[in-house]
Amino acid sequence: MKRAQGSKLLRVGLGCIALSGAARAWGPHPEITQAALDALGPEAALVQRLGDESRSLRDYCWMPDWRRSLHREQAAWFYTDDYLLLPALPEHSDHMCPAVKRTYAPCFRRALQALRTENGKNASRWVGTLLHFTEDTGAPPHAGEIKGELHGKLENWVDAKAIHLAGYKPRVLGTTDDEALAGYLQRMDGLIAFSRLRCERAMPFAVSGDRAAAEPDHPGERAGSRPRRRRSAPDTWRAGEKQSSRK
Ligand SMILES: [Zn+2]
Ligand SMILES: [Zn+2]
Repeated sequence: MKRAQGSKLLRVGLGCIALSGAARAWGPHPEITQAALDALGPEAALVQRLGDESRSLRDYCWMPDWRRSLHREQAAWFYTDDYLLLPALPEHSDHMCPAVKRTYAPCFRRALQALRTENGKNASRWVGTLLHFTEDTGAPPHAGEIKGELHGKLENWVDAKAIHLAGYKPRVLGTTDDEALAGYLQRMDGLIAFSRLRCERAMPFAVSGDRAAAEPDHPGERAGSRPRRRRSAPDTWRAGEKQSSRK
């Protein structure tokens, strides 16, 4: 799967559905990554450690969707599986819950190791892999375990430009590796519960093909338990593009 960028998004969405039956491309990976970088700010340890490479996280957060391929960059090629497979993760994992959970611990520890001992490029690639599985988990149909035709609607009926984390204060997950991993896993449990709920709420609209009704400002949504002001990722559902443009 090639990365989705701007106008290429539609093509990627089409290819994804055609190839897999269950769409794998959770559209707004770069936007979610950018929102996280914005929330961290330039002084954050991760950004300081990666330097200019921190900007490449917007690309590398696609890494698991590039599996089994030679990937070309400006100055060199690399084999994506070198940043995806590990002794603790010897095969490619599905990106859906519950299978994706297998990736969390090995990828978290590997990214940590790369941040400590490898160059910024390698570290960014491994962090990108971890980001992808984390972000995919937050895609409502991945958390809600919905495959088939509804999958693409449930994850791509989103206005990527509306994604932000304004006001979010990054938290330390732990002071040791084990503590941080435990904190991350706990956070993922919370993300799955959060996103599964969004999946359940959006499901009737996906079934009826009514993208406009999935918009959080829609009266139908306001009648429910969700507040109108909601605009933060990943539970932002807007009718930014016509449904047919993403199918
Ligand atoms: Zn994926
Ligand atoms: Zn998907």
